[in-house]
Amino acid sequence: MRMERKTLGLYLHIPFCAQKCAYCDFYSYALGDDGIKKNYVSAMMLQMEDISGACREHVIDTVYFGGGTPSLLPLSQVERLLYSIRHNFKLSKGAEITFEANPGTVNLKYLKGLRKLGINRLSLGMQSANNAELKVLGRIHSVEDFGQTYKDARAAGFNNISVDVMYGLPGQSEASFRRTLEYVAELEPEHISLYCLKIEEGTPFFAMRDTLSLPDDDTEYEMYSNAVEFLSKQGYERYEMSNFARGGNMSRHNLKYWNCEEYIGIGASAHSYFCGERYSVVRNAETYINGLEVLEANIPIISESRMIDMAESMNEYVMLRMRLDEGVNGSEFRARYGVDFWKKFGVYLDEYIPDGFVKKNGENYSFTTKGMFVSNYILSAVLDFSPQDLDIG
Ligand code: SF4
Repeated sequence: MRMERKTLGLYLHIPFCAQKCAYCDFYSYALGDDGIKKNYVSAMMLQMEDISGACREHVIDTVYFGGGTPSLLPLSQVERLLYSIRHNFKLSKGAEITFEANPGTVNLKYLKGLRKLGINRLSLGMQSANNAELKVLGRIHSVEDFGQTYKDARAAGFNNISVDVMYGLPGQSEASFRRTLEYVAELEPEHISLYCLKIEEGTPFFAMRDTLSLPDDDTEYEMYSNAVEFLSKQGYERYEMSNFARGGNMSRHNLKYWNCEEYIGIGASAHSYFCGERYSVVRNAETYINGLEVLEANIPIISESRMIDMAESMNEYVMLRMRLDEGVNGSEFRARYGVDFWKKFGVYLDEYIPDGFVKKNGENYSFTTKGMFVSNYILSAVLDFSPQDLDIG
């Protein structure tokens, strides 16, 4: 009898950027010393080797190179990482392998190289089709650069492309955001991610927050709801709060996060959820490299870890599944936890139905568009912990 293997996602964090954007609080830094890339990749390979024994029963069916800017890695280093993945794990034949690339860091030759190495999904950080907005954000590319990169990606043979777009930007009008959406829709990527700018502590935007001319909450909501409507007319189905796909091209890797499935994170600051435990790696590339390369130094690379008990798991499941358009199904919840969803959470979600924030269809609970926009607030009231407490990816 053939043993059924469990599936697993693999996330690889590349923390290098050409320059730091004014709003970004991801772990990444502007790269001065090029030499660190090779050492960093070697450390990632060691981490994969270390974890591989625990993953023998698993098959990797999604791989995601995120950052930072993975496209700052030379192809030779990407090749080493892919070799290490194939060498240390069982990679499924049809695995989705996503690579984040920023316009201004790649050309046709590089993109062809990625395809040749087996990368089959590209995620491009466009953010805006307005050069003034890109400049304010601190992005290194222009709209024209993005257009060229997109064209090159298609010419290189990528038939699964995702484009990141942002709204709620300083000085951005609803008309300007609409033009960005029209520009993207005309290109017909398979997937669009739509993010609202958040002013995060410790970023240059945070220091400037009183002088930035930001759209108010009502305008941001208008932008979001109009975008959902516009993209739906263009054939993009919203399947998660911020993610839209056409032709069923949803991000299989990111769906693992929202479905509470297992994944392993490789690299500085990467998070994992594996065998009932959530843990994260140190947020410092040098400590990470030394921890893996200089064994006698005895530097721990795991900064935080905790086992998730059933109560916490139920809260996480509801929080993450409610991000999806399909929401939470009572029968599925009972099959997973042996607990009545309505008694535990549904009764509280019911309170948001009359005002149109939550909808119920049989045993299924999900957010409406306006509910999604304030979901953190609603979930904080319904769940036993704050949605902001959970880091994924
Ligand atoms: S390119 Fe991406 S990861 Fe790098 S600084 Fe800008 S937003 Fe952050």
